[in-house]
Amino acid sequence: MALPGYYHTLAPFRESFQTGTPILTYHKLGPRPFGVRLKGLYVSEKLFAQQLAELRAAGFITPPFAEMIQPATSAVPRIALTFDDGFSNVLRHGLAPLTRYQFRAIQFLVADLLGKTNEWDARSGEAREALMDASQIRDWLAAGHEIGSHTLTHPHLTRLSPNVAREEIFASKKKLEDLFGRPVEHFCYPYGDYNEAVRELVAEAGYRTACTTVSGVNLPTENPLELKRHTARYQSLSLKNLWSRLRLRP
Ligand SMILES: [Zn+2]
Repeated sequence: MALPGYYHTLAPFRESFQTGTPILTYHKLGPRPFGVRLKGLYVSEKLFAQQLAELRAAGFITPPFAEMIQPATSAVPRIALTFDDGFSNVLRHGLAPLTRYQFRAIQFLVADLLGKTNEWDARSGEAREALMDASQIRDWLAAGHEIGSHTLTHPHLTRLSPNVAREEIFASKKKLEDLFGRPVEHFCYPYGDYNEAVRELVAEAGYRTACTTVSGVNLPTENPLELKRHTARYQSLSLKNLWSRLRLRP
């Protein structure tokens, strides 16, 4: 059976999540400000909490992100919760539900824009949102969560010269490590844009994993620098129709 394009609720994914390790992608949590273009990338605190409650009830745990690429040592189902871009609304609306359901999450940060806004989005007319500053990131880490790199400035990496791409990948790692005093071992390709040369740079920089925007669960044979994810977002109206039609099918 074909899976929905986006993750909204566990039911349609239950079977697929048993065949490999799932990773969910979130961007923003909480109310949508006026004028937002990509509305589906906001998930309300209520829906987020519902999704966590459902995963908790189904027995899922969230080990440290580095363990996602290691073979399972028990039958307990694993899942990873990832947040792209480092928006401060994730701290504001996500921390309490994550604590309540005892889940760990990782935020991929744009290292040159901490405490600033999503400038890369604003160029396409998207509403501005605050990105976590260093002290908010320390709060996030103190709560037991993780961080990774999402480059310095959120470019399309394959469109850059090799030297500039190298700088985005290497310098963001160093900058975050210097600021927060811990290794930064996980990377996320902005826009899911990468090729073999970019992946090689990510490997050379010493990252252990890298997330893409390719949909699917991760098998033990997966290249850890090409992890698949499912985007969590609101269910679109057309998707809702589709599922109600499927349920009505004899
Ligand atoms: Zn991003």
